[in-house]
Amino acid sequence: MSDEAQLEKLAKQIVVCTKCELHRSRKNAVPGEGPTHTEIMFIGEGPGAREDEQGRPFVGASGKFLDQLLEQAGVTRADVWITNVVKCRPPGNRDPLPNEVETCTSNYLQHQIKIVNPSIIVTLGRFSMGLFFKGAKITQIHGQMRKVEDHFVIAMYHPAAALHQLSLKSTIMADFAKLPELLKEARAELGRSTTKGNEPKKKKTSRSK
Ligand code: URA
Repeated sequence: MSDEAQLEKLAKQIVVCTKCELHRSRKNAVPGEGPTHTEIMFIGEGPGAREDEQGRPFVGASGKFLDQLLEQAGVTRADVWITNVVKCRPPGNRDPLPNEVETCTSNYLQHQIKIVNPSIIVTLGRFSMGLFFKGAKITQIHGQMRKVEDHFVIAMYHPAAALHQLSLKSTIMADFAKLPELLKEARAELGRSTTKGNEPKKKKTSRSK
């Protein structure tokens, strides 16, 4: 099955998923979106009210801010993958519970990451940061790129945090501004040269020259 078909299959499973309690209160699950192979994947916490209504990630107030941050970094939303730790809105925007995080990431997020195979994963907020940096403090590691298994991961504040705490706004903006430079670094380390560089290599057949 092609990578595109695998991502579509996962999305179809996500929209009808009943593996945890979050499905009971959702209007729409939000699988995430982006090109099949891309260099940057953003992972937020979980859908909010607007995302639950539309079935798309980061379309509410924090999404608008995320769009601004991306634009400022010279990155187009259509060129990146955007998803969340949990794919269904926690009621009243409560924190996702450990079993919800575990169920959703082991069944869906981990597979999405493997297929999309981004050079850089940007975690937005403490729940996605916790998947890669156990026990880390965002105040200490935000904006720094670290290799975690096959990917470079950068922890950033959640855009909603900047909307609630103006003092964080300049910090998030400065971290996003570093993205183009960090991407160059990640490409060099991973031996990828272009945005399309992470596409799987074509298998050689007996007829290939
Ligand atoms: N906050 C998130 O973490 N994810 C969304 O998709 C929207 C808001």
